[in-house]
Amino acid sequence: MELNDRTLLKTQAFIAGQWVDADNGDSLDVINPATGTVIAKIAKCAGAETRRAIEAAEKAQLDWRKRPAKERANLLRTWFNLMMENQEDLARILTAEQGKTLSEARGEITYGANFIEWFAEEAKRLYGDVIPPPADDRRIVCVKQPVGVVACITPWNFPNAMLTRKLGAALAPGCTTVCKPASATPLSAFAIAELARRAAIPAGVINIVAGHTGAIGEELTSNPIVRKLTFTGSTKVGKKLIAQCAETVKRTSMELGGNAPFIVFDDADLKGAVQATINSKYRNAGQTCVCANRILVQDGVHDEYARLLAEAVSEFRLGNGVEEGVTMGPLIDESAADNVCSLIDEAVGRGARVVLGGGRSELGGTFVEPTILSGVTDKMRVFREEIFGPVSPLVRFHTEEEAIALANDTEFGLAAYFCARDIGRVWRVAEGLEYGIIGINEGVISNEMAPFGGMKQSGNGREGSKYGLDEYVEIKYLCIGGIDR
Ligand code: NAP
Repeated sequence: MELNDRTLLKTQAFIAGQWVDADNGDSLDVINPATGTVIAKIAKCAGAETRRAIEAAEKAQLDWRKRPAKERANLLRTWFNLMMENQEDLARILTAEQGKTLSEARGEITYGANFIEWFAEEAKRLYGDVIPPPADDRRIVCVKQPVGVVACITPWNFPNAMLTRKLGAALAPGCTTVCKPASATPLSAFAIAELARRAAIPAGVINIVAGHTGAIGEELTSNPIVRKLTFTGSTKVGKKLIAQCAETVKRTSMELGGNAPFIVFDDADLKGAVQATINSKYRNAGQTCVCANRILVQDGVHDEYARLLAEAVSEFRLGNGVEEGVTMGPLIDESAADNVCSLIDEAVGRGARVVLGGGRSELGGTFVEPTILSGVTDKMRVFREEIFGPVSPLVRFHTEEEAIALANDTEFGLAAYFCARDIGRVWRVAEGLEYGIIGINEGVISNEMAPFGGMKQSGNGREGSKYGLDEYVEIKYLCIGGIDR
């Protein structure tokens, strides 16, 4: 890995402002998914280290929450600046551990840093309320206070941005944190923690532990000092963690899985629809929670849309994300590739037709060909499950009502997309879809200014935007009586 500043490549846990080994000296390999080589050995922590990190966060809370919002904002702003100054190194670390192309990784660093900048600004606008009282001798005032120590658990698909989206919103109002990044991609989290240290964010405000997943999770969810868990990952693990948090009645925010429909109506601008599909579907080799998962295409434009999509996707170049000209990287590991191939095989076995691709690439291992299937039905696993790979399953439909019913026929409700020009249809469909985020003639929907989050089993709470701070504050109501006239 070529870095301008190799000291950003941290492999120890970050606890109370110190880089430390695991208590028993254990380590865990971090593997480059494009080459299969070990790129780092990180400290493999467990419950004891996590407990110390929680205690460090509790201690740091006392000072951090009392600082003026402007001071916290200035520190976050310094951190943001350091992220942007080190964008290239952060992107190289990200590509090496995660596999996405370098240009996508650079994009993720900017996207991730933007959350820190945004919440640095929002920190100063955490207004309360003065409410008209029921009696003349009383006053009602609501103030917002930080929740306290927050546990943050993040996935491997956006190892930088999924963490900054939580840290910006948590730190701004005065919370402190213990973070557990995915075991496959801990290096991005360590690198931004090192930049936080350099930005003079006080020791204990951010702690990072990785390693023994179950033991760390058990401590984070059972320790009463932790007041909130914010989790991004699969619905299956999210449900388990909600249950674990029940015992100590922790607040939770859950950013879970998706099964996004992408609907192309007869009146859509087809070229625009193809571009929006590609942006939504194939980014990060199809490994995003908001990826188009089922592409529903109306009869009248189905064949032309399929032809245009195949033409555009056939231009992709698969390979190691650091190489010039590569437009799509590998999947995170071989079992992810096996799973995607099995979804393709099952669909084909039930009558779907391969329009493009169709299985493992000749590069082998973690590489799956960008694939388009037609004739997909709601009985197939590709329709019902989160694919998390570069596969576009095309489903033909006839009417608007049918499209909305097909789109909502899932337990998930994170992102949905549709392309149409008729203004009445745009409103009807937008209101009919049971999803937290709707992209209309647009495939890229996530940014720091807009609320991100899902309905149904895609989770609860919102990240980013002015709403993002609500997840990290308690509303405290002060009833002030005895006011003389
Ligand atoms: P995952 O298997 O649920 O893992 C997510 C995180 O949870 C990882 O850090 C993982 O650690 C940890 N974890 C797993 N079991 C745990 C336990 N028992 N206790 C504590 N932590 C535990 O998900 P993933 O495969 O990394 O990510 C893909 C999923 O994330 C997809 O479903 C995707 O849709 C979803 N996602 C959602 C959003 C959103 O904003 N809604 C964004 C991105 C991704 P290890 O890595 O150590 O196993």
